[in-house]
Amino acid sequence: MSQFTDYVQPRMGRVFTALGLDVEYERAEGNTMYHRDERGELVPVLDLMGGYGSLILGHNHPELVAHAKALLDGNRAVHAQFSLREEAGRLGAALSDVVRRETSAKEPYVATFGNSGAEAVEAAVKHAELVRVRRVTELADEVAAHAEEARQAVRRGEARIDADAFQQPGVRGRATPADGIDGLLAAVGAHNTAALATRPLFLALERSFHGKLVGSVQLTYNAGFRAPFQNLGTRVRFVPMDELGRPETLERIAEDERVTLLDTEVVDDRVRLVERDLPVVTAFLLEPVQGEGGIHALTTEQGRAVRLFCNRVGTALIIDEVQSGMGRCGAFLASSLIGLRGDYYTLSKSLGGGLAKISAMLVRKSLYQGEFDLIHSSTFAMDDFSSSVARKVVEMLEADDGRVYRQVTERGERLTRMLEDLRAQYPDVIEEVRGKGLFIGLQLRDQGEARSMVLRGGAYTGALGYLLSGYLLREERIRIAPTGSAGNVLRIQPSAYLTDEEIERLRGALERLCRILRYEDTLHLVHP
Ligand code: PMP
Repeated sequence: MSQFTDYVQPRMGRVFTALGLDVEYERAEGNTMYHRDERGELVPVLDLMGGYGSLILGHNHPELVAHAKALLDGNRAVHAQFSLREEAGRLGAALSDVVRRETSAKEPYVATFGNSGAEAVEAAVKHAELVRVRRVTELADEVAAHAEEARQAVRRGEARIDADAFQQPGVRGRATPADGIDGLLAAVGAHNTAALATRPLFLALERSFHGKLVGSVQLTYNAGFRAPFQNLGTRVRFVPMDELGRPETLERIAEDERVTLLDTEVVDDRVRLVERDLPVVTAFLLEPVQGEGGIHALTTEQGRAVRLFCNRVGTALIIDEVQSGMGRCGAFLASSLIGLRGDYYTLSKSLGGGLAKISAMLVRKSLYQGEFDLIHSSTFAMDDFSSSVARKVVEMLEADDGRVYRQVTERGERLTRMLEDLRAQYPDVIEEVRGKGLFIGLQLRDQGEARSMVLRGGAYTGALGYLLSGYLLREERIRIAPTGSAGNVLRIQPSAYLTDEEIERLRGALERLCRILRYEDTLHLVHP
């Protein structure tokens, strides 16, 4: 009897019912959400899912609520499209300042605002492609001009064609010395036309998550989300994170994907052909701490390997901080903690403080393409309400020299210590505790070999994490979910205001859960 199930998400609604997650939350404050039980009483639930990581400041933070109310009470102009959006301007300036402070970047960043994380990723993808297309066009024009110069020089008798030119791969078999300069240049033109038709390539990491829109879903590693739509979108090559440390991995990709144009040179009265690299890789995307893929943090060395690769092949580095940024890992940018600097950043989730839907794509000012803001826009982007709330969020994060960041780090350490204690007690149940700041993953051991059919079945279908989520909500009143693509990793993403009592509550609940899993006492899991 749920209209959500009837009219919105028929399949998900049934899954929620099956797992006992079929509640409607009415109120929320800090790390607590409330739903009603059968008697109509409000039931408080400790929320460790934190709006898929969008609540670093918790639910309905009083300062943010007051700020939002003041905007509404003042009839603040919200939809002031086609005017100077100074509220967005102030937010853009604040974001640029924070990024420069944390990364010591010399130049400012220009912001493009959107409504969701995937939208920010797509804005970065489009912008990077615009830069690439520009470079390709310049190169193609230059090569075409050189070809004409060579043609004229030969026609005037000022230059002769080097015999080697006809042996050049791309020309050999298409033209012979008897075809003269016109034949040579026709072959060169055919090769170059084919090269210019190469579809742009994006590089991303295995286990990555960058969104689910038509373009961004191809950058998301999980084949379940991506495969049905692969004919629609972006061409992507996935690189294993563990292999980034080996220089040959990225070198091999650069070599495999190398596409060249044939350029014509006249040197010492001879026409020669030389290869010029065509920029085919639009961008390398990465999350400094992978979220949906199971909470995996990139190391300083891995980050450096990607940065050097991008510099060498002249491709853009897009750092997706949609989930890891805004204080989640103990700094505004998780990438700044490993000394990694991006050409682009994408931000969303906690940027809206849990009240506004907003995302931002930041790009280095010297890379910014002036026409981008003329050709990329969205009705709701840059609205004054969301921009103002987000600026307040940035202010709160940056206050007192980054008190919130320090708090996240301290709370994260405390929470991690508790989880590590549990792992030491239950190494047969908990495989690993991973993450940074308050972006933590608890990896459970695979239950594929369990005697209990419930556990084995859960492991087999990848649903074990969901089953455990249902149990924790029903029995422990704790809201927790597995990561989007790794079902045996529980994600723990509370707000910066997590208390010691809340940590101890989680300890008690997880201890009971560990005992259930150790003794395969699975009736508890499935029987309310
Ligand atoms: N990038 C990352 C790193 C994310 O974690 C997510 C959302 N989980 C997205 C992009 C997409 O954001 P949205 O769901 O707002 O489109």
